[in-house]
Order: sequence, then C-alpha cells, then structure tokens
Amino acid sequence: MKSFIHEALPVRVVFGVGSLASVGEETERLGASRVLLIAGGHEKASADVVAAALGPRLAGRFEDVQPHVPLAVAETARAVARELRADALVSIGGGSATGLAKAVALDTGLPIVAVPTTYAGSEMTTVYGITSDTKKQTGRDPRVLPKTILYDPALTVTLPPGLSAASGMNALAHCVEATYAEGANPLRSAIAGEGIRALAAGLPLVVQAPDDLDARGEVLLGAWLAGTVIASGGIGIHHKICHVLGGTFGLAHAETHAVVLPHAVAFNAGAAPAALAVVARALGHDDPAAAIFDLGQDSGLPSSLAALGMPEDGLDEAARLVVAAAPPNPRPVDEAGVRALLADAFSGRRPRRQA
Ligand code: NAD
Repeated sequence: MKSFIHEALPVRVVFGVGSLASVGEETERLGASRVLLIAGGHEKASADVVAAALGPRLAGRFEDVQPHVPLAVAETARAVARELRADALVSIGGGSATGLAKAVALDTGLPIVAVPTTYAGSEMTTVYGITSDTKKQTGRDPRVLPKTILYDPALTVTLPPGLSAASGMNALAHCVEATYAEGANPLRSAIAGEGIRALAAGLPLVVQAPDDLDARGEVLLGAWLAGTVIASGGIGIHHKICHVLGGTFGLAHAETHAVVLPHAVAFNAGAAPAALAVVARALGHDDPAAAIFDLGQDSGLPSSLAALGMPEDGLDEAARLVVAAAPPNPRPVDEAGVRALLADAFSGRRPRRQA
C-alpha cells in the first residue's frame, strides 16, 4: 500500500429534510447573538424562514449576492458586518452566497453557518475566491471554512433541472478525480465512491421529477461528499481542461465539466486502473467513461463542446494551454493526447472502451 497523509477538516454537518429549522439552535451552539444573514434575491423565501428562526439573534440581512464575489460587494458586506457588530454569519444559497460569507469571514474571522442550495460544494472547503478587475484571486484560509453546514434537500427542489444536472455533474467530476489526483488515499476513494453512487442514482430522477425529495437527498448527499473530497486533495487533467475552457473561451463552468468528464476518464483509463475500478464499481458499469457519458445524456445535458459554443479553431490553443499548466495526472499529459481528448469532447462522441 502507498503511503499517504490525510487531514480531515473540522465541520459539523446537519443533514436532512427540514434541517433548516435547526438554524436557530445551530447559531446558538456557536454562542452567536448578532447574526448577519447573507442570502440573494432567489433565496428570499428560505431567508425569511431563517430570519424568523433566528428571532432576536438576527442583527441584519445582506442581499446583494453576485456571482464570483466581486471585491466591491465583499467590502460592502464586511462593512455591514462591522457596523452591525455581527458575531456570526449565516449564508443561504449556492456557491456565490457561500463565497460572499467566506470573503467576510476572511476579513473578520466571523464563524459561518452555511446553508447550501446547489451542488457546488464550496461550503466544505477552506478555499475562497474574490474577483476584482475580472481577475479571480483565490486562496486557502481555515477562517473561511464554515463551522456548521445545514444540508436540507427541501431547499433544492426549486433548482431548475438543467442547473441541477450540470451542478451535479460538476460534483461527480470532483469525486472521480479524487480517486486518482494528488492526495488520493483509501478514505478519499471510499468517500468519492459513495458520492459517485449517490449522484448517479439521483441525478436522472431529479431531472425527471425535481420535487422528488428522496432523489434530491441522494444528489445533495453526493454534493456533500464531493465537497469533502475537493477540500482535501488536488485536481487532475479534467479540472485543468475545464479551467482552460472556462477561463480562455468563456464556456459555462458546470456544463463543461459534464462534457469533458467522460473523455478525461477515457484518457486516464489505462493509467489508473485501480482508481477507475472504484469509479466503475460505484457506477455499476464496467466502462466508467461510457457510463458517465450516458449519465449526462440521461440528465438532459449537452454532450459536446461544440454545443457549448467552443470554437473548433481554438482546440489547438486549448491543448497547448492545458499542457503548459498540467497538474500531476496518472497518464502523462502530452499535447497530442490532450488534443485528441478535446476533439472527442468537441464532437460529443461516446467514449470508446480503452484497451
Ligand atoms: P450560484 O451560487 O451563483 O447559483 C447559481 C444560480 O442558481 C443563482 O442564480 C442562484 O440564485 C440560483 N439558485 C441557487 N440555489 C437555488 C435553488 N435552490 N433554487 C433555485 N435557484 C437557485 O452558483 P453555484 O454553481 O452554486 O456556485 C458557483 C460559484 O461557487 C462559483 O463562483 C465557483 O467559483 C464557486 N465555488 C467555490 C468553491 C470553493 O471551494 N471555494 C467550490 C465550488 C464552487
């Protein structure tokens, strides 16, 4: 067995339908008496429930949640937290709301109770990102890790099917790469395998019946487990390709994950057989690349980079950029191999079984 180091992050998780109701108790547990509630417009109804549950412990609300945490918004929220003499933050929403709470915590040290309503997984990590002049500055700091997370599947039923499927495939990608990327270890693989199982079981059902609470529970469970594994390890070729395609060609982040993942798995298949056996077992299929491709199709997602607006004449440049910044990856990352992977993803063909 290979040597490894594993570090678990100290997070309290309260999971289940109706867990939002424990938000008052959970803030009390942290000794908070002046809570700043961070929730965007979409989350107003749930935020009202939180406000009522907090009662006199609610010091104020901040609603200007924007994608990718613009610095100006973070600074305003920090000033509001100081003015209100807040002693804790409750965030409710997707990665953007969690990200804003993290930006405030980074500056103030305030503890966060996070209530995620998408499958982004940001709530489980010490990673923060703040955008200024279109550049996203990211970093890691233990202060931004939420103290408590409330996962309530009932809050996710309003997430539209397309967004649910794409966000869920993004979570699946975190689990798949955790089995072979830097930092892989038996515990991460076990967590990733259960995450893959839950996501694959729940995603097609959630798309067909968005208010199926059991299916929503499976996918949210998978999202939590995906957040757990991205919090404690590195990334491989798949994530690097998605960063390049999103950053340089403006492709939609979560959908890009859904399109690229089957081809990244096919790319690595011969070089990481033990890791991809974990993925195959979790999917209940002996060809994980094909099974992931089919899952994307069954979840109604686009299957090709062409459909996402990728220009075909950008594929050479994309391959060069990926190779120039290649992370450690089971199969060596060479330009011809990446270009072939991108060609398959561009056309959206079902991956062929690797020898
Ligand atoms: P998001 O928070 O911007 O949400 C996407 C949209 O869905 C928004 O319009 C939001 O209002 C809406 N929405 C959220 N929950 C809903 C619900 N239950 N019902 C209906 N609509 C709902 O996007 P996201 O995908 O959750 O997060 C993406 C962001 O998170 C990015 O900025 C990404 O960089 C960041 N992120 C950070 C980390 C990290 O570790 N720091 C990890 C993953 C993602």
